[in-house]
Amino acid sequence: MHKRCCGRVYWSPTARIGSVKMRRRISTRERVDIFHRNDGKCHLCGLRIDAGQAWEVSHDTPLQMGGADEGGNLKPAHAKCHRIHTASVDLPQIAKAKRREAAFRGAKAPSRNPLPAGKKSPWRKKLNGQVVPR
Ligand SMILES: [Zn+2]
Repeated sequence: MHKRCCGRVYWSPTARIGSVKMRRRISTRERVDIFHRNDGKCHLCGLRIDAGQAWEVSHDTPLQMGGADEGGNLKPAHAKCHRIHTASVDLPQIAKAKRREAAFRGAKAPSRNPLPAGKKSPWRKKLNGQVVPR
């Protein structure tokens, strides 16, 4: 991410787009370390990452779930496995965590379409079936 200061543009690892922190760059040396620490295996499918196969550094616990951006939380994963895992496991989990957090904080916006005759509806249905204003 680029940050503007004193008329100049700098790269900043902490700059934000919206509320998402920019990711830091993981150096070649660190990537090699991560690769060897996990015996060159994809941590998602467990298979070997062959020479020339595209792989990425994956966060075992996603950053947005409070995972660390260092050490044992960084693991190699095939680019394909990583993409599938991110879309099918991580993103739904992150979205749910955000919904739960909002509900816990009481920040959840009221429903735009309350259930008919529900508690938020201006109408009330009596036991005999008659619908009356609340
Ligand atoms: Zn894999």
